Amino acid sequence: MNTVLPLSEPLPPPARRAAHEANRLAKRLRHHVGRAIADFGMIEEGDKVMVCLSGGKDSYTLLDILLQLQKKAPVRFDITAVNLDQKQPGFPEHVLPDYLRSIGVDYRILEQDTYSVVARVVPEGKTMCSLCSRLRRGALYACAEAEGFTKIALGHHRDDLVATFFLNMFFHSKLAGMPPKLLSDDGRHVVIRPLAYVREDDIAAYAEAKQFPIIPCNLCGSQENLQRRQVKNMMDGWERDTPGRVEQIARALGDIRPSKLSDPKLFDFMSLGQRSDGGMPDAHAWLGGESTSPNGSGDMS
Ligand code: SF4
Repeated sequence: MNTVLPLSEPLPPPARRAAHEANRLAKRLRHHVGRAIADFGMIEEGDKVMVCLSGGKDSYTLLDILLQLQKKAPVRFDITAVNLDQKQPGFPEHVLPDYLRSIGVDYRILEQDTYSVVARVVPEGKTMCSLCSRLRRGALYACAEAEGFTKIALGHHRDDLVATFFLNMFFHSKLAGMPPKLLSDDGRHVVIRPLAYVREDDIAAYAEAKQFPIIPCNLCGSQENLQRRQVKNMMDGWERDTPGRVEQIARALGDIRPSKLSDPKLFDFMSLGQRSDGGMPDAHAWLGGESTSPNGSGDMS
């Protein structure tokens, strides 16, 4: 006997367009995420990956794309979504559990009232993000330790990596960014950023097409850090006036030539073309005993 399968209802045109857009973007995102995972050796056989989920567009996209890649990945690995409920006033507690149950992924919701701590300690009008992030990181690392997660996946994307590079350059006088893969300071956790090659506007479009139940990030009432806003405005201006510049910079972060920079710790300029075997005179010797500080005192810095 033939079984007649019920025909699914055709989608109305706007929904069809959204589904088509989501598929197109998903393909591009899988491509970038798969490449980043391979380029940096982010995930290996048997890994237990903890995906940190804040309820923002970036972390929803990260989880969604990792789940898609997991199905065809060349290695077996587990995914657990973890959210830290920081007890911000008005945080809609049910949104993430409802979503995570609906997609059938393993998950944990941690509860820690970091909001009260930050609100008490940080003076009014100052940005709370730096302390808040530190406390959040501590709670997530503790969870990874307790549960034996071997990788901690965060939703930072290409534009975050570029912005951090400029923040370090403009406000801390160093060339350093946000690496796609990182060992925590205590050496106990490996943090990965699989969206490292993904543009923020692709993520925004994907989140929109997928209708993720976004939880707004202004519940805590903290203002965005002024320096970060300046850098973001600068990058937005570039994208408007010279599209593609941020991508060029992101690529440059992966193509570094120490011999074309000025850090003698990274490249041995000293012995370059040196004809004698002996040591080279230092700044004190060149200045004939004068202070090596441009201001006349202390060290040269
Ligand atoms: S915006 Fe609020 S919740 Fe987000 S890091 Fe800053 S203080 Fe924390």
